[in-house]
Parts: sequence; C-alpha cells; structure tokens
Amino acid sequence: MKILKNISLKKFNTIKIGGPAKIIYFPENHSEIKAIKNILKKKKTLILGNGSNIAFKDVGYKNDLVCFKKLKKSLSLIGTNNIYASAGVSCAKLAKFAHRYDIPGFEFLYGIPGTVGGALRMNAGAFGSEIWDNVQYVTILDKKFDLVKLDKSKFNFSYRRVSMRNTSAFIDVFFKINKKSKFKKDLLEEFSKKRKNTQPTNQWSSGCIFKNPKKNISASALIDKSELSKTRYGGIYVSNKHCNYFINDGSGTCDDLEKLIKIIQVDIYQQHKIKLEKEICIY
Ligand SMILES: Cc1cc2nc3c(=O)[nH]c(=O)nc-3n(C[C@H](O)[C@H](O)[C@H](O)COP(=O)(O)OP(=O)(O)OC[C@H]3O[C@@H](n4cnc5c(N)ncnc54)[C@H](O)[C@@H]3O)c2cc1C
Repeated sequence: MKILKNISLKKFNTIKIGGPAKIIYFPENHSEIKAIKNILKKKKTLILGNGSNIAFKDVGYKNDLVCFKKLKKSLSLIGTNNIYASAGVSCAKLAKFAHRYDIPGFEFLYGIPGTVGGALRMNAGAFGSEIWDNVQYVTILDKKFDLVKLDKSKFNFSYRRVSMRNTSAFIDVFFKINKKSKFKKDLLEEFSKKRKNTQPTNQWSSGCIFKNPKKNISASALIDKSELSKTRYGGIYVSNKHCNYFINDGSGTCDDLEKLIKIIQVDIYQQHKIKLEKEICIY
C-alpha cells in the first residue's frame, strides 16, 4: 500500500490549500482496508476522496488520513438492473459509463470532479438530481470496521447531507437503473456546456462554498445581489463567473479562505438575516 509522510496537502485538494499531512494511507483493495483497521478506528482519522470539497488548515492535518482515490476502480453492469461502482471511481467516469449504455439519470455527475465515495458522503447533485436518487445498496465500513451491505432505506439524506450513523466510510455502491425514465443522448453534453458557461471549471476552487439557503434562493444570487461579487481576501476571491465559487489565485491560504467566508456570511446576515451554511469541509 502506498503511504506518504510529511507531504503538502495542497496536492490533495482542488482549491490547493493546506499545510503538511503527517501521513496518508492509500489502500487499494478490501484487504488493505482491513489491514489499516486500527488507523481507521481512530476518531480523528479522515477519509479523503479527490479533495474537491475539502480545504485543509495552514498548520496541516496532524492526524491520519486515508485516501480512497487509489481503491481498485470497478465499474460494471450487474444484469439489467444495476450499475456497480467502487468508491474510488470518478463521478465523470460513472456518468460516461451510464451514457455509453444509454442509461439515464447519471448525466448530472459529469463535471463533478469528485469520487463516487465523496459524492455519496456529500449527496452531490446538480441540475435537479442527486446521487442518492439512484442508489439501491451501499457497502459501508461500519463503526466496528466490518464491511456491511446496506439498503438505501437505512439512510436519511437531504440536500448535500446524509446520515452517517454507524457508517465510517462508503466502499462501493449498487445503483438502480431506472427503466421508466427516458434516455436523452444529448443531455450529458448539454449539462457539460451549461457548466462551462456558468462555472469556473478550470480554476483552483472547491465548487460551491455555501449551501443554497432555500430551494428558491441560491447562495450565488444572494452574494451577487448583495454586491459582494468582487470581494477578495489575500489570495482568495469570489469568482466573477459564479459567486458561490471562491478561487485561489495561487497565493491563497486557508486563513484567507476562512476570512473571506466570514466576511460574506456576516454581510449576507446583516443585509438579509440569512445564515449561509458552509458546503466546503475545512479540517
Ligand atoms: C469545479 C467544481 C465543481 C463542482 N460541482 C459540484 C456540483 O455540481 N454538485 C456538487 O454536489 N458538488 C460539486 N462540487 C463539489 C465536489 O466535487 C463534490 O462534493 C464531490 O462529491 C466531492 O467528492 P470528493 O471525492 O472530492 O470528496 P472529498 O472532497 O475528498 O471529501 C468530501 C467529504 O467526503 C468525505 N469522504 C470522501 N470519500 C469518502 C468515502 N469513501 N466514505 C465516506 N466519506 C468520504 C470526506 O471525509 C469529506 O468529508 C464541485 C467541485 C468543484 C471543484
């Protein structure tokens, strides 16, 4: 198993922020996961996917990290009813795989730069769909660190949230193929174009910084309306393409990021009495 020590965490998140990691384990299969049970058991051990929704503090992460990005990538059709994906598979690969077999419902995942495991943890979504819409079963590592297959009904999920009671990590997932929904060949391309036109997809960011406060109120529109779209702190600034994306110009630190988050939260609260909740995970 690959193990890295004293390495900069900037390499492990898409906003390129963070001090050094003490140690990162990269298990590649189930037996390697079992081999690091004692590491995973520790309360402060953190699971890492592709780091597309994470920033790390400038002092670094002093506890153990386990990255599932190198977990053997398996993606297959199971009969005519299911798609199987392991946690390390990228959301884009899953979307393209479903598209290749004319399976509807996965197009929104194209352009989300995370792993399937991270997407399950965040209940990632776009264009009116969320990953848990398609789930039938998941294999989890439970709090006793056994691998257990659980039905979707064992989880409560909502906008960018899933209950993790007795779950320490998602290992793989069986998606249900929706036979009632119609496959639209151009939808994946349509979503991809929409994303490129409205989001800064080629800059250092971590996607949306805040959750939308209500279904009909987007954090981005609120920031724009409140004339905060040109706000910057140090090396981190509000994207001029999408106000809920913060960009690292290359010199940004976690301190800059947290200060900018605070400035926006305080201002939005003063102007609208709305508390913006963070979507990004900062450790
Ligand atoms: C350009 C850009 C566009 C984006 N667009 C969207 C979008 O449209 N919709 C959307 O929802 N998000 C979007 N995101 C945010 C991000 O891509 C998603 O939240 C993604 O699902 C995170 O996956 P990850 O593998 O990168 O997880 P990470 O960022 O590595 O981790 C996120 C959280 O999940 C946990 N975690 C990771 N893997 C596992 C696992 N196997 N088991 C248990 N916990 C785990 C981590 O501990 C952490 O708490 C975007 C980000 C970027 C940079």
